[in-house]
Amino acid sequence: MAKLYFRFGTVGSAKTLNLLAVAHAYEQQHKKAFLIKPRIDTRFGEEFIGSRAGLIQSADLLVDEDSVIPSDILVDCHCILVDEVQFLSEGLIEQLRHIATDLNIPVICYGLRTDFRARLFAGSKRLMELADAIEEVKTTCSFCNHKAIFNLKLMDGKPTLAGPTIELGKEEKYIPACSHCYEDAVKSGEISIPGQALKASKGKVKAETSVDF
Ligand SMILES: [Zn+2]
Repeated sequence: MAKLYFRFGTVGSAKTLNLLAVAHAYEQQHKKAFLIKPRIDTRFGEEFIGSRAGLIQSADLLVDEDSVIPSDILVDCHCILVDEVQFLSEGLIEQLRHIATDLNIPVICYGLRTDFRARLFAGSKRLMELADAIEEVKTTCSFCNHKAIFNLKLMDGKPTLAGPTIELGKEEKYIPACSHCYEDAVKSGEISIPGQALKASKGKVKAETSVDF
């Protein structure tokens, strides 16, 4: 039986780069990887899945909250890859579970575990409940060298807990932070090393081997 995977990580942990690398590997073997993304995510254009590292590929299917994934278009697929899975509804996560179980197609989902208030996204929660395998895609804190577990929201360069959970605007920015730096930033309303945070926000991802976790 094929498995349902949840590969979670903070912003800037190269999840989408990982997804596109998996898609490329399938393509090299002349196998079809089917790419799904939520329509809400339009950062790289509605139909594209893009990594901050610069790679970009068009999605095969855009889904909304109440979408039904038609099983007939998955017939020749060897793998299903889902980007920004945290934005999917619980119903869609349940459909992905059935695809892995009933159609015997592995489903690999990439996304955030929690929002900027450190609360589970509904889609991520359902996926945690239903996934065969839950794997962490790691990256470092923007301010120190510990593992990042939170997504710190900056509005006009200042940390904030304000605003809606799902907001993909242009003014705010999200950066990875460890628990210590996240708490410091939220309490003080300032970021202590703005230069470093800015650098990290541009998508610099350190190799896992160089990280002091
Ligand atoms: Zn830190």
